[in-house]
Amino acid sequence: MSLSPARPACAAPPLVDAFQRRITYLRLSVTDRCDLRCTYCMPERMAFLPRKEVLTLEELHRLALAFIARGVTKIRLTGGEPLVRREVVDLVRAIGRQLGDGLEELTLTTNGTRLDAFAGDLAAAGVRRINVSLDTLDAALFQRLSRRDQLAQVLAGIAAAKAAGLAVKLNVVALKGLNEHEIPRIIEWAHGEGHAVTLIETMPLGEVDAERADHYLPLDAVRERLAARWTLADSAHRSGGPARYVEVAETGGRLGFITPLTGNFCATCNRVRVTATGRLYACLGGAEQVDLRAALRSEAPEARLADALDEAMRIKPERHHFRIAPGAAPAQPRHMSLTGG
Ligand code: SAM
Ligand code: SF4
Repeated sequence: MSLSPARPACAAPPLVDAFQRRITYLRLSVTDRCDLRCTYCMPERMAFLPRKEVLTLEELHRLALAFIARGVTKIRLTGGEPLVRREVVDLVRAIGRQLGDGLEELTLTTNGTRLDAFAGDLAAAGVRRINVSLDTLDAALFQRLSRRDQLAQVLAGIAAAKAAGLAVKLNVVALKGLNEHEIPRIIEWAHGEGHAVTLIETMPLGEVDAERADHYLPLDAVRERLAARWTLADSAHRSGGPARYVEVAETGGRLGFITPLTGNFCATCNRVRVTATGRLYACLGGAEQVDLRAALRSEAPEARLADALDEAMRIKPERHHFRIAPGAAPAQPRHMSLTGG
């Protein structure tokens, strides 16, 4: 399959929202499907979207070009699990052709199960850094958390990424009573391998089988415990996202904290998310959205897309209102795997 090397239109106005935040970062979901079933993310019997509702690779490519033309400089492909989408590497290659021509970074968030097969192709397409989700190094706990026995595959994928020259950052969702005790060990191992780590608080998105509040672990408490063990020095490093970083003196590695619940980071938000069906969500925690698929499939796609993106800038809310409590409904009914984490 080949995707045409179309160039983005020039001189379109940048994306700036009503709070004067410049939007330069697109998280583009290429599928809502996944080969794992992480308990905090989705139920075991997850209902996936009918394939005909999902954008074609060609439509995803056109969308990426439209965003680049409006000043987006960083694109992260995500999902669901991006590497379960057939021929996703063609899309990576096609978008990768814009690197140095408007696009500064093309990256990916993956659960790592298929990375050993794809790491070389991703690097060759211009990907330099990837995020891999890894909540535990214990095979039994991995199976319990993801409902699949895939730890060895994921570790092989991380090793393949390193061998291909990709910088790896590990995303770890901190879970009370589950991987809580293992967090220092994961950090030590990752830093020893040369990988950065980012800890993430569980977010109340979509119904899952378990009660999320039971395993919600505020990261301010985790940070305190880590600070009693190691020397944590605040770092000026910014990845253009909500994480705040420290350098760990003893391990020589970088550690990030994403704290949607305990520390709101919305004032500097620079991103929007597009689902695999082409719905642009202006905020991860909000319902505000525009339909880019309808625009793409209309008679006048360029004009309709431009209007839809302008509308997205008008409706992007100032902040999310996440709250996690026993028995409380999720902040949004859609799962992170749909919106694109
Ligand atoms: N499947 C890929 C993966 O797991 O890396 C990409 C999509 S996944 C939705 C992106 C990130 O969202 C992962 O790091 C995952 O751990 C995180 N995530 C999923 N559901 C979450 C939730 N309810 N709260 C916090 N993080 C969540
Ligand atoms: Fe799949 Fe990622 Fe959700 Fe886990 S977090 S179920 S790997 S989409």
